[in-house]
Amino acid sequence: MTHDDSKKYEAILLELQATLSKEIKDVIRGGNDMGEIGNRDEEADETEESGIAHAEQIALKGRLHAVLDALERIKAGTYGACLKCGNAISTDVLAAAPESVYCVACK
Ligand SMILES: [Zn+2]
Repeated sequence: MTHDDSKKYEAILLELQATLSKEIKDVIRGGNDMGEIGNRDEEADETEESGIAHAEQIALKGRLHAVLDALERIKAGTYGACLKCGNAISTDVLAAAPESVYCVACK
């Protein structure tokens, strides 16, 4: 992957990070009726609806985490290489999911 390529993916990932952060906030707002991102993860008596929002939140946070990892790999210069076999991840895969860590063969 060239420097220009990694710059391109970095921009895509930063945008994805912003989108996911916003979606997580929206889910928290919608699920709890009480704005603010905060220590609301450990709610004991969740209603069913906020339970769904909670599951959605976990999925979004998981993806956000993967995006942040990908940004770290760009900094480290290892972005675009499969974590399992070390081969380059195809640009088709990266275009569909820029946070991908495995090539098609290893997925
Ligand atoms: Zn692989």
